[in-house]
Amino acid sequence: MALVNEHFLKLTESYLFADIAKKVKAYQVSHPRQQVISLGIGDVTQPLCPAVIEAMHKAVEEMGSQATFHGYGPERGYDFLREAIVKNDYLPRGIHLDLSEVFVGDGAKSDIGNIQELVRWDNSVGVTDPIYPVYIDSNVMIGRAGVCDKGRWSNVTYFPTTAENGFVPELPKQRVDVIYLCYPNNPTGTVLTKAQLRQWVNYALHNDALIFFDAAYEAFIQDDTIPHSIYEIRGARRCAIEFRSYSKTAGFTGVRCGYTVIPKELTAVTIDGRQRVSLNRLWERRQSTKFNGASYLAQRAASAIYTPEGRKQTRETVQYYIGNARVMRESLSEMGFKVYGGVNAPYLWVQTPGRTPSWRFFAEMLYGAGVVCTPGVGFGPSGEGYVRLTAFGSREDCREAMRRLQRWMQVAG
Ligand SMILES: *Cc1c(COP(=O)(O)O)cnc(C)c1O
Repeated sequence: MALVNEHFLKLTESYLFADIAKKVKAYQVSHPRQQVISLGIGDVTQPLCPAVIEAMHKAVEEMGSQATFHGYGPERGYDFLREAIVKNDYLPRGIHLDLSEVFVGDGAKSDIGNIQELVRWDNSVGVTDPIYPVYIDSNVMIGRAGVCDKGRWSNVTYFPTTAENGFVPELPKQRVDVIYLCYPNNPTGTVLTKAQLRQWVNYALHNDALIFFDAAYEAFIQDDTIPHSIYEIRGARRCAIEFRSYSKTAGFTGVRCGYTVIPKELTAVTIDGRQRVSLNRLWERRQSTKFNGASYLAQRAASAIYTPEGRKQTRETVQYYIGNARVMRESLSEMGFKVYGGVNAPYLWVQTPGRTPSWRFFAEMLYGAGVVCTPGVGFGPSGEGYVRLTAFGSREDCREAMRRLQRWMQVAG
């Protein structure tokens, strides 16, 4: 008799974006002529840049000829890509990585979801709140999160990030073994300074904790003093794993490519305290068993981002989204909204007027202005009273959405 993994049954019924889609559909049935503008979902809209397209064409041609065909690739990814990563993403920031510390994958979500396999099921987990749901749900699935009561998991420590603490999470007061950090943050769009991030690295070093650092949005950082990598902090090589993705950086949400850095000196201890085990070695073992690499096409596409044209073209697209964020931030502030983020990230985190519950404000905005946002509470209990707007749309849609919101705010008084 096959018994099901009942931890899956503890997960909430449907995914946040499915709930939103259902509500938008219901609205459209009763308002068939209104064109809804979605500032909700976090997918990009601008096409791949010409340098990437050219590299992909070339790779396709190679695959069609026996002399240049590529089958299974190397376990950690092709050297041409890992070399480009080490040289372009890390060296200029004073970080020296060995090629063997970089693992190319099919995007950050799978690596972030899978990385928890490397630590025992009874470690405690800490997350900033609100948060990208993958961090918690991947732990729920193997029973590490405990039981859920009113949106909070018993074995998860929540570090609230809200306007009250300036979106800077406070260090835990109880033991936390594994900490997930995401900066620039999804959903709040806020960042941590080097000094603020250093506190977390020091906490991890003093408590023998691990940090899983999600840097999916580092390409959006505008302020030169903000760290792009956790390895800019001394000691982080001994306590942190970093995840990066080409999805938002270069529009790879449909191509699928990203990478994970696991430094050689990063270890976790066995329960008897006798042995320290290299997580780089474990991850290599895990990946070679359960994963067969990102496609050759995707890796060639990714390496084109590091060419001079590729860098220029991807930077232009990032600046386009950041320009959207600026337009939205300025308009919303003028309307009287309290707006956070949107400077070093493509997300704006907007406080609802009078702290109206997120889902109610979502409906009011949809029915009042025909604009879709994401209710903040969908990202965790501390997201209540906020909504997230994304800057991934077209400039025209962003401007039109702002016009509609302005009209709506005037009517609503
Ligand atoms: C979009 C996103 C990712 C990237 O996911 P991919 O699987 O690389 O597309 C990772 N982390 C966060 C917080 C994200 O929003």
